[in-house]
Amino acid sequence: AYDMLIVGGGPAGAAAAVYAARKGIRVGVAAERFGGQTNDTMAIENYISVLETDGPKFAAALEQQVRHYEVDIMNLQRATKVVPASVAGGLLTVEMENGGALRARSVILSTGARWRNVNVPGEQEYKNKGVAYCPHCDGPLFKGKRTAVIGGGNSGIEAAIDLAGIVEHVTVIEFADQLKADAVLVNKLNSLPNVTVHTNAQTMEITGDGSVVNGIRFKDRTTGVEQHVALAGVFVQIGLVPNTEFLKETIELSKFGEIIVDAKGHTNVPGVLAAGDCTTVPYKQIVIAAGEGAKAALSAFDYLIRTPAA
Ligand code: FAD
Repeated sequence: AYDMLIVGGGPAGAAAAVYAARKGIRVGVAAERFGGQTNDTMAIENYISVLETDGPKFAAALEQQVRHYEVDIMNLQRATKVVPASVAGGLLTVEMENGGALRARSVILSTGARWRNVNVPGEQEYKNKGVAYCPHCDGPLFKGKRTAVIGGGNSGIEAAIDLAGIVEHVTVIEFADQLKADAVLVNKLNSLPNVTVHTNAQTMEITGDGSVVNGIRFKDRTTGVEQHVALAGVFVQIGLVPNTEFLKETIELSKFGEIIVDAKGHTNVPGVLAAGDCTTVPYKQIVIAAGEGAKAALSAFDYLIRTPAA
């Protein structure tokens, strides 16, 4: 059995593993895909102390640092269930898709999240070639260019306001008949000179020239009339889905499916902590996930030294 088992090998899980291993305890990391979302990222320019890197390089560096320590890395392993200990201080069980089960005195959940796709032609083809999901990350790449935001909820309107300060013009496309964002955000958006809002608008296609995005085609749902707008970037902002479906029965989740954690990363189950994009901690970013992972490992270690093993 492990002293600490980390489920998920993105920035949060990797940071937790490094912090845990340095305590000299038995540590395992089970991850469906080591590196997590950073594998899918082009340029990373906001990880402090690293001026610029790319996703695959960053993911490889995460793994290299974890491998520097005595950590069991179980890559390509998907967890399907967490079973709490039957007695205080007892072993927790993490059931795996391959039929196996891993046992540990403490578990850190760092399974991350995934952006909801709009599933129109062009989205997959031009991912990272004009199709983006994170305005904090990729907004500056479109400085002085025209962009669109798909989604008129809080994240979409926050993204549009953020982008309007950087890019030349923002087209907001919302499927429903009105923007769902908070009134204060909508008012702020309406005060900006370089934003156009289309409600009742269905995105039909993200168009490109074969190498990068060159526009977006959408349909007015009341008239059926289609329109094509020329632009360089499309931010898809229709939701971030935490990878927590498998936890529903045991771990307390928010209405958005995020694992509810306290300031130290504890969940509702003793010995189970969580960190990164899968939690209620706001602002889903690499530097934040890494910090939260380190914090969860320190909290778990604190739990281990204070809880007599059953
Ligand atoms: P993730 O990176 O999502 O890692 C989750 C891990 O858990 C993975 O190893 C996954 O395989 C594993 N996992 C999931 N479910 C299971 C399961 N059931 N069993 C076992 N393992 C499981 N942030 C920035 O700061 N700067 C950027 O420039 C930036 N650009 C981005 C660009 C793109 C295209 C995307 C998608 C995201 C970007 N982000 C960026 C966000 C950043 O990648 C995330 O905030 C960060 O990766 C979150 O780290 P995490 O460890 O919490 O989760």
